[in-house]
Amino acid sequence: IATPSDGPIDVLHASSKQTKSWQAVRRAVTTGPVQSNALIGGTPLIDVTSVLSLNPSKVKIYAKCEYMNPSGSIKDRIASYILQAAIDAGDLKEGMTVVAATSGNTGSAIAAACAIRGFDYIVITNKKCSIEKIDSMRAYGGTVIVAKSGVAADDPEHYQNIENTMVAENPGKYFGVNQYDNLNNALAYEATLGPEIIAQTKGLITHFVAGSSTGGTLTGTSRYLKAVNPEIKSVLADPRGSVLWDNFVNDVPENELIVGKWEIEGVGKDSIPGVLSWDVVDGAQRGDDASSFYTCRKVARDLGVLVGGSAGLNLHACAVLSGKIDNGVIVTVLPDSGVKYLSKIFNDDWMNEKGFTGKEKSPEDGEIYW
Ligand code: PMP
Repeated sequence: IATPSDGPIDVLHASSKQTKSWQAVRRAVTTGPVQSNALIGGTPLIDVTSVLSLNPSKVKIYAKCEYMNPSGSIKDRIASYILQAAIDAGDLKEGMTVVAATSGNTGSAIAAACAIRGFDYIVITNKKCSIEKIDSMRAYGGTVIVAKSGVAADDPEHYQNIENTMVAENPGKYFGVNQYDNLNNALAYEATLGPEIIAQTKGLITHFVAGSSTGGTLTGTSRYLKAVNPEIKSVLADPRGSVLWDNFVNDVPENELIVGKWEIEGVGKDSIPGVLSWDVVDGAQRGDDASSFYTCRKVARDLGVLVGGSAGLNLHACAVLSGKIDNGVIVTVLPDSGVKYLSKIFNDDWMNEKGFTGKEKSPEDGEIYW
């Protein structure tokens, strides 16, 4: 485990002005050809301070480029981990079909992991999922079911319940990934993302910021970081409309939570997932669609970093937080690529239709629970 040292933090500078030619070579060259799953993790950390920090000389903001994983998102980390653990435990056997409910990225990651291991798969997403993500899940060769969106969490047609029913009714035929309650989800981040962040920041990280759907990223990473240094603070970034904020900030019990609507894909929830553990979370930032999408467009134009809406949410939350602390090293994740949302976030017509253009909030006015 790395300890704070006087060495430089291991980041690439995202700003083109600071980029040196040697920094353009990002990954270590391997000794020979590898399978695509060997490319999972080990993502670079980029410095986004110059564009996002409200106090750039004292508060640094770094981001892990999770969109560089082979299927284009952070979810490659859990897909591989969950499938391998299930194979090792004898729960996933040859001839079985893998079934996964997903907002899209877990679907692509599971699809890729199944393709490598020779399993058939069925992924179940809902209508909120971008067409780019649906097409990419199909591209790996499996079946994609698109369920209704906006149905109650206990409705049998809710995408998570479809997975549960299929698996319960066909034991031995289907293996359910069950990412919302499968504790191997958080363990994957505890084993990989947490150690990478400590190593890359030389242990100097003070705050970790992440959105939550299953809560795997936030829970697993925070657990590792706090085991290394209990002073590290962990902050949830939650879209307005998600029930997580009220459950965490206002202690509203699960059966009284009211679900709203939001457009950012892959984060925010309509129920409290079993994987999420509030005992490793210290604060929360409530973001909105317009500010998150504006941040995506800003980092694309200013830093040449093309990322999805949850990355925009995380980066905006980091900017808000940078105005609330005197000094620190904030680290967040860029969960997926903006290529998955070209028809939405980066499409002016869609942004105008949804009424997001020009509606972003300044980080100075951001709502934070601290
Ligand atoms: N961002 C995106 C784009 C995602 O697809 C997901 C997972 N649904 C997350 C963030 C949140 O990750 P987690 O499930 O670990 O909370």
